[in-house]
Amino acid sequence: MAKILIVEDEKEMAIGLKDNFEFDGHNVSIASDGEEGLVLAESETPDLIILDVMLPKKSGFDVCRELRAKGVRIPIIMLTARGQEIDKVLGLELGADDYITKPFSVRELLARVKAVMRRSSEQEETNNSVIKIGPVNVNFGQYKAWDDNGGTVDFSYKEFEILKYFIDHQNQIITRDALLNDVWGYEVYPSSRTVDNFIVKLRKKIEPDPNHPKHILTVYGIGYKYIP
Ligand code: CA
Repeated sequence: MAKILIVEDEKEMAIGLKDNFEFDGHNVSIASDGEEGLVLAESETPDLIILDVMLPKKSGFDVCRELRAKGVRIPIIMLTARGQEIDKVLGLELGADDYITKPFSVRELLARVKAVMRRSSEQEETNNSVIKIGPVNVNFGQYKAWDDNGGTVDFSYKEFEILKYFIDHQNQIITRDALLNDVWGYEVYPSSRTVDNFIVKLRKKIEPDPNHPKHILTVYGIGYKYIP
């Protein structure tokens, strides 16, 4: 089934959970402090991590934060103590997928595990789906694009973001301001001319005839419209 890493210093709790997960057909390893948890999370690449907050050497929050900072996206369910309301919020802001408050029933935890794993596999599916834009195939999860002959088409990160935005708002009129706000956001504010320059570059890559675009249309005086 799945590989689960339990990071928990209370031995009884860790072994109890391990037995239950194994009974459900999962493969389980245990780390008994934060540092070991961090090491095993990277070396064993589990499908899910059950991460206690109060741990020796490194707190569960630190482990979660460090993993996310390294780009590790393994789903994490945090175990918090009763009354750690602030901690719950923190856990989710740090990139945890869910939390459960001690004491909890094993059945409830197993249900959360199933839900988190289902969400994560759905997400993976979206990330791995390929979208066709003119003569170009794009995988937004992997930031990869290629033409029908398999040749790589190079898009910058920003170009991918703009394309994604167009696809999410296809057949709608997109103002330059909306693009600036939603794609550039709080970064150093570029002028609407920057947007236009990006559009010129994108058209060269996805339009069979960039001078007569069929996908990224100009809406004069307003902005753009993407037609798939
Ligand atoms: Ca603990």
